[in-house]
Amino acid sequence: MKKRIVIAGGGHAHMMLLARIGDFIRHGCEITVVGPSEHHYYSGMGPGLLGGTYRPEEIRFATRLVTEKFGGRFVQAKVSSIDPDGQQIQLDNGKQIPYDYLSCNLGSQVPQKMVSGPVDDIFLVKPIERLLEAQGRILELGADRTIKIGVVGGGPSAAEIAGNIWQLGRTPGMRPVEVQIFAGRKLMPDHPEGVRRRAIRTLQERKIDILEGTRVESVRTGQLIAADNTVHQCDLIFIAVGVKPSRVFRDSNMVCGADGGLTVNRYLQSVNYTNIFGGGDCIDFADQPLDKVGVYAVRQNPILVHNLLASITNQPLKPFDPGGAYLLIFNLGNRTGILHKWPIMFGGQLAFMIKDYIDRRFMRTFQKIELP
Ligand SMILES: Cc1cc2nc3c(=O)[nH]c(=O)nc-3n(C[C@H](O)[C@H](O)[C@H](O)COP(=O)(O)OP(=O)(O)OC[C@H]3O[C@@H](n4cnc5c(N)ncnc54)[C@H](O)[C@@H]3O)c2cc1C
Repeated sequence: MKKRIVIAGGGHAHMMLLARIGDFIRHGCEITVVGPSEHHYYSGMGPGLLGGTYRPEEIRFATRLVTEKFGGRFVQAKVSSIDPDGQQIQLDNGKQIPYDYLSCNLGSQVPQKMVSGPVDDIFLVKPIERLLEAQGRILELGADRTIKIGVVGGGPSAAEIAGNIWQLGRTPGMRPVEVQIFAGRKLMPDHPEGVRRRAIRTLQERKIDILEGTRVESVRTGQLIAADNTVHQCDLIFIAVGVKPSRVFRDSNMVCGADGGLTVNRYLQSVNYTNIFGGGDCIDFADQPLDKVGVYAVRQNPILVHNLLASITNQPLKPFDPGGAYLLIFNLGNRTGILHKWPIMFGGQLAFMIKDYIDRRFMRTFQKIELP
């Protein structure tokens, strides 16, 4: 009987797996890919999409097309839970899919608990494709009047979102856009002081207001309510607070880390179920905590491919080595960035050019496999 492999989520950690579907088919496997959208958007270029630097087709992978091209089956749905003993996943459309092997790349999400009431004009920074909707809304409202936009969050994604909203606000025909960042304790507190100072300077030079020490407790359409009960009126609100792994594993009562990520061993294999693998933001790597950055998801690609193939052919598994320090480049809008890899740090156009080159090259590598 054919081995049934389910690829849950077509994110950054599964790009190589999708490209190698043909190898699994040749080994007599049946492949099913499950994802909520026919495309996967590259988050590293998401802020640039919002700012208008990139078009949607430049920053996305055609997950369904690639799956079907190599002989797999694509199911457009979300995984809502996993039954690891019964070896099946439950989908949000009520259906189940049985598997022999499961690989999970379900990503992370921005917690929504601070939002109350309707979500009109409130945008979480994930899923990335919603940033396109946000862009349309800014252009629509900003064509008639000055608008005020609040960005909740103190990490790099809040800085990137604010910088790119500012860029969008300079589109010809737009009225001025006022941007405020509600940074909680500080802006980018977990980054070296030089990176932090550079980000603050760049944003403040553009008259972006950075409110450090202002913690937002709740958000509703048009209003942010701070911990001291001050109410801030905003036309649009972006929520860029830290991400949490997909809830699927916790909801399935699987062994998880403190933040709900699927606990995996050095083979990226669930610590309880040897036929379940995982990569990217949705895992808790038992050996050491990993930052929620795309770099790790990308580095995990070859290990997931190898270990899944090795499992079906009874070969030894390979361990994942997270590697050393990684390069970070933030896109602050206006084709400027900040590059950081210890001990190097610089900002400006060169930093953006390097990011743009790396990101476009990454996209080209995987978009090439979409071609007939
Ligand atoms: C605004 C922003 C900018 C960023 N910039 C950078 C950067 O420049 N460099 C960097 O290294 N990192 C960056 N990051 C972090 C980076 O995005 C993540 O670490 C990376 O996306 C993790 O990849 P992933 O594949 O695990 O998750 P994702 O990219 O989120 O992919 C998960 C996939 O799973 C799918 N999925 C989700 N839920 C389900 C479900 N229930 N069922 C089925 N499929 C599902 C999604 O549709 C998606 O295709 C940024 C993050 C944000 C929010």
